[in-house]
Amino acid sequence: MKIYADNAATTALSPKVLEAMTPYLTEIYGNPSSLYQIGAVAKDAVESSRETVAKLIGAKNPNEIYFTSGGSEADNWAIKGVCKALKNKGKNHIITSKFEHHAVLHVCESMEKEGFEVTYLDVYEDGLVRPEDVKAAIRPETALVTIMYANNEIGTVQPIAEIGKICREAKVLFHTDAVQAVGNVPINVEEECIDLLSLTAHKFHGPKGCGALYVRKGVLIRNLIEGGAQERSRRAGTENVAGIVGLAKAMELAIGSMEDRAEKLTKMRDRLIDGLLSTIERSRLNGSREHRLPGNINMCFEGIEGESLLLKLDLAGVSASSGSACTSGSLDPSHVLLSLGLPHEIAHGSLRLSFSDDNTEEHIDYLLKVIPETVEYLRSFSPLWDKIKSE
Ligand SMILES: *Cc1c(COP(=O)(O)O)cnc(C)c1O
Repeated sequence: MKIYADNAATTALSPKVLEAMTPYLTEIYGNPSSLYQIGAVAKDAVESSRETVAKLIGAKNPNEIYFTSGGSEADNWAIKGVCKALKNKGKNHIITSKFEHHAVLHVCESMEKEGFEVTYLDVYEDGLVRPEDVKAAIRPETALVTIMYANNEIGTVQPIAEIGKICREAKVLFHTDAVQAVGNVPINVEEECIDLLSLTAHKFHGPKGCGALYVRKGVLIRNLIEGGAQERSRRAGTENVAGIVGLAKAMELAIGSMEDRAEKLTKMRDRLIDGLLSTIERSRLNGSREHRLPGNINMCFEGIEGESLLLKLDLAGVSASSGSACTSGSLDPSHVLLSLGLPHEIAHGSLRLSFSDDNTEEHIDYLLKVIPETVEYLRSFSPLWDKIKSE
């Protein structure tokens, strides 16, 4: 059996999305900035996609949506753009959390080199940022609060509306990296007081290399990519027309089927979690189960290496991850698991499974068989496991 269980890393392109994109990869190749017919048709496609994306996140105006090359660019732009715009207004402080994606964490680190001070909020054992911690960290010189909507490794969904309200009351801008959340949980930028929001198509069955940044009207932000007058002179570069059409189509499909999928995936997820916890001793679920993306499982199994588990599972036909795609390949334990307070030796034995609509109950049956077998096999020659057992 072949099981793709790494949908937090990327998802399969939906056939319907490919179908919507194909004309813009073939006969409608015009540049949206051109005035003749074939350019105008491409421009119309971009603008109607912008309207779709705006509507789906509850934005008031399509002009609050800017298309980017993906989630990383949107995160970079939000943070660097706001900080650079506010620096000469006496703002030099950013608030974020310790378990953000590197597209946020590394940008915050680079802002430190530019004279910004960054508060990295603790994440508790449940993988949730506390709104009261955000409130306590806000200062008169705070330029931006950036807290992710849902974590990409452990899938915990943050109290975004509460954090948004606190920021709005304190008159501090609030950005959220919603890359993992879009299409999986309901989002409304107006109701949740979000000023900037990042998303990317390839996490919800759209194409890779196309994302968007929502920027609330009136927010001061510097450009990241300079050049031509595309995106109302805010983001230069000829539009990725097919990508943009694919993003809007994928988002429409993902949000349209969100409720049913959430119910199905939550049931599958919980059956797998309960099954693994009860058959594998010294196993644990990382992060809150309740405040969690429907399709995310992240567990630790003591006494084994996450990498060995992944290789064995790959041989058994299962594509999974030990954390984020950016950190697998290095032997450092994930910064996310360490931020929960897990000791290094436990954080090493982690496994992330992330499901989509393409996964089935049969997949769960197979995983309930193959994961315990593999863990037992790896433990059978692990000196670390012998040591743990003898304690
Ligand atoms: C995947 C991901 C990103 C990066 O998005 P790209 O489109 O791959 O650049 C950023 N943040 C989170 C939380 C992600 O999961």
